[in-house]
Amino acid sequence: IIAANQVSKSFGPNEVLRRVSLPVAEKDMVCVIGPSGSGKTTLLRCLALLEQPSTGRVIMRGTTIASPKPDSAERRAARAVRPEIGMVFQHFNLWPHMSVLENLIEAPLRVKRMARHAAVAMAEQLLAKVGLADKRDVYPMRLSGGQQQRVAIARALAMSPQVMLFDEPTSALDPELRREVLIVMRQLAAEGMTMLVVTHEMGFARQVGTRIIFMDHGEIVEEAAPDAFFTAPKTDRAQRFLSLFA
Ligand code: ATP
Repeated sequence: IIAANQVSKSFGPNEVLRRVSLPVAEKDMVCVIGPSGSGKTTLLRCLALLEQPSTGRVIMRGTTIASPKPDSAERRAARAVRPEIGMVFQHFNLWPHMSVLENLIEAPLRVKRMARHAAVAMAEQLLAKVGLADKRDVYPMRLSGGQQQRVAIARALAMSPQVMLFDEPTSALDPELRREVLIVMRQLAAEGMTMLVVTHEMGFARQVGTRIIFMDHGEIVEEAAPDAFFTAPKTDRAQRFLSLFA
């Protein structure tokens, strides 16, 4: 459904991604793991059209949506598919001056030109889904981190995305709040949402992932089914990385 094709990304002299190819198929739940600085976030941001690749392309359903030198057709294609790519960040990034409900309906109203009553009805459904129906009129700062992240997930879902990209969604949370976010993500995966998750939650990756991507120094070093990866990683680098979590 979405794919990185030989994507490299440099910041000045620093080559952060090196010819990474990663196709994500429908209903995949891809977990990207690896040491700090290995390029995981940068890969996700390239797929989310938040960074432009230095070389290579991002392709969605056969159409190029990002490349080093986009022409006008590609820019149009990128604009068209952007709402279909949901993104959840480490630090929630909710709009602080808007209530939970307003956070959810903002993009559907403005970007999709949805009718207000329809947007509100959908938002209420999504809040119920993430267990926050009673928080619709509350402002984000009144919520715990776990609740804020669940609102952020509901907000991304409000655009009816084809794929959801998560960048370390639980890293900023205390352990007891992580669980409630992981439960929502697990439920999404069970419903068949196509997902790509950068995470340090090894237990979650093993249980919920359909594929594990291990990155180091800007490259995909290993790619495997979860059980195979966690019981018998093939490379020394992955073995060393996993031993940190043992
Ligand atoms: P972490 O697990 O710590 O989040 P990561 O694997 O997600 O790490 P990235 O965030 O992709 O790694 O960063 C890879 C490298 O790219 C780092 O060395 C980082 O300093 C560098 N980098 C990322 N974004 C930028 C930027 N906008 N400008 C310059 N350098 C950047």
